[in-house]
Parts: sequence; structure tokens; C-alpha cells
Amino acid sequence: MLTKRYGDLRTVAAHTDGDCHLCHESLDLDLYGPTGHFGPETVTVDHLVPQSVGGGDEPDNLRLAHGSCNSRRGTRDVAVARLELAGTSDAPLSSGEKAAWSIGAGSAVALGAGHLFARQLPDGTREFNGEAALVAGVLGTLFVRAIL
Ligand SMILES: [Zn+2]
Repeated sequence: MLTKRYGDLRTVAAHTDGDCHLCHESLDLDLYGPTGHFGPETVTVDHLVPQSVGGGDEPDNLRLAHGSCNSRRGTRDVAVARLELAGTSDAPLSSGEKAAWSIGAGSAVALGAGHLFARQLPDGTREFNGEAALVAGVLGTLFVRAIL
């Protein structure tokens, strides 16, 4: 969806992989419009740094949010509004982060299938050590998040 002011909404949506950056629920880009136009599900552009305190239309300052979430946030700090609406102060993962996450999880599964997470049993057979694979998967995910 192309808008005059913000360009292609899909570019803005990619920051959060199409989710509302405040409540983390999905958005329907076809419902873009003035706040309330399509009810609470209306998709609006929210400014991370509110316009009232000098935030502009730079791509990095734009995120998509439900009109209702946007209204509830008002001009409060995003972290505070997210904590209230999504239960976390974090932003939803971007499309790129989600791709990296699945690569990380995929590597952990691939490693888990090998000998790294297998332990030898007294009778000489090998058993998959799920606990070690899980720990490695979590560490891998943290690593992927840290480098993005
Ligand atoms: Zn929302």
C-alpha cells in the first residue's frame, strides 16, 4: 500500500514483520486509514519519537500500530506503552530478525541431529541429549539477536 506521506507501508511494516509495534498482534495493511476509520483495527503510522517532541517522518522513526493502540499510547514512551499493551517493552521482531531466528533454530536442530548432543550410554548406544541441544538453541538465538 503506497501512501503519499510515508511511502510504501510494507517497508514500514517490515520493521515488525507486519505486527503492531505496540501490542504485537498482526495488522491488515488494507485497513490503513485515519484513526478509527475501520474501527479499532485501523492501521496507523506511529512515530517512535512523537511528533509533539520533534519526531519526524524518517523511516527509522516510523512503525505501524493499530489506531486503538496508537491512541492508548498517546505521546508516552514506546517501552511503557508496549509493556501495557503487549506485556513486554520489546518491539516485535522484524522480518530479518525472524529469518535469522529460524536459521539459528535450524542450526541448533541440525547440530542436535549430529553427535554434539548425543551421549553415549553404558551399552554403547547413543542417546540424543535434548537438554544440551535446547541450551545451545537458546544461546544461538541470543547470539543471533545480539549481532542484528
Ligand atoms: Zn496493536
